[in-house]
Amino acid sequence: MENKKPLLKVENLKKYFNIQGRQLKAVDNVSFELYKGETLGLVGESGCGKSTIGKTILRLHEPTDGKVIFDGVSVYDLSKNKMKDIRKKMQIIFQDPYSSLDPRMNVADIIGEALDIHQLVKGEARTARIKELLRLVGLNDDHLSRFAHEFSGGQRQRIGIARALAVEPDFIVCDEPISALDVSIQAQIVNLMKELQNRLGLTYLFIAHDLSMVRYISDRILVMYLGNMVELAESDTLSMKPLHPYTEVLLSAVPIPNPSIEQSRKRIIVEGEVPSPIDPPPICPFYGRCPKAMDICKGKKPLWKEVEPQHFVACHLY
Ligand code: SF4
Repeated sequence: MENKKPLLKVENLKKYFNIQGRQLKAVDNVSFELYKGETLGLVGESGCGKSTIGKTILRLHEPTDGKVIFDGVSVYDLSKNKMKDIRKKMQIIFQDPYSSLDPRMNVADIIGEALDIHQLVKGEARTARIKELLRLVGLNDDHLSRFAHEFSGGQRQRIGIARALAVEPDFIVCDEPISALDVSIQAQIVNLMKELQNRLGLTYLFIAHDLSMVRYISDRILVMYLGNMVELAESDTLSMKPLHPYTEVLLSAVPIPNPSIEQSRKRIIVEGEVPSPIDPPPICPFYGRCPKAMDICKGKKPLWKEVEPQHFVACHLY
């Protein structure tokens, strides 16, 4: 993959929020690349900065520092008008299908809105395109005139996906698209997203707070903690051979489908809450909760290192 040209390049991205004169470092120096047709899973507890990364890439938040290059274009250098053009290529699916769909609009209007904003099709062609999108996500023509409250959670997320696909994007930020759904429905939505990716050549940044479903959909996984990158590897490598103690904690929480192995699964419980990202000290962000912490960990922040090909980690153990 390293020889291919990336579709998306994120370089030293920082997003700080000013809270009464103090700095909340939501995203601190994050860099990664995403290749065409790839899914990168972005994982970590709530508050680790993963959704902020997705939104800052799309400029739903303005960055504090750093660069985002999409298809060779520097996104943060674009004017408002040019940004509108590139937004057609970069879309987002939101976490909560209940609140992300306007309850006053029917499905035709929800999906059609994106077509109208970008002036893509009108009249009968518009209706035909909306019907095509509904079929693409496993819904049908009868759903066209219904309102969001008439659908189940899974169906609403399908509408959210159709809305994102309306403008024929290349890249989609999937911001916890399955977290609000029942486990049985989560698998259906993940399968639909995989199928759409193969069919349409989509590239996903797939954000989630645990590793269970993300392992299934992602080619590579980036683990975040308190605004910092802590580990990045191919999905299988990360699952079989995690290096960072925090990745081990996340993996130990994933249920194993085989009941006899599941019985002996040992969950690693870490003490304490995630610390505040306001004015954090320059030490390992996981120090204080890490079961393997050493003296050096409270002295300096570990560097981001490639410890084996395509396997990166920030931890003083390596
Ligand atoms: Fe744990 Fe130290 Fe590694 Fe941080 S640097 S994850 S505290 S062992």
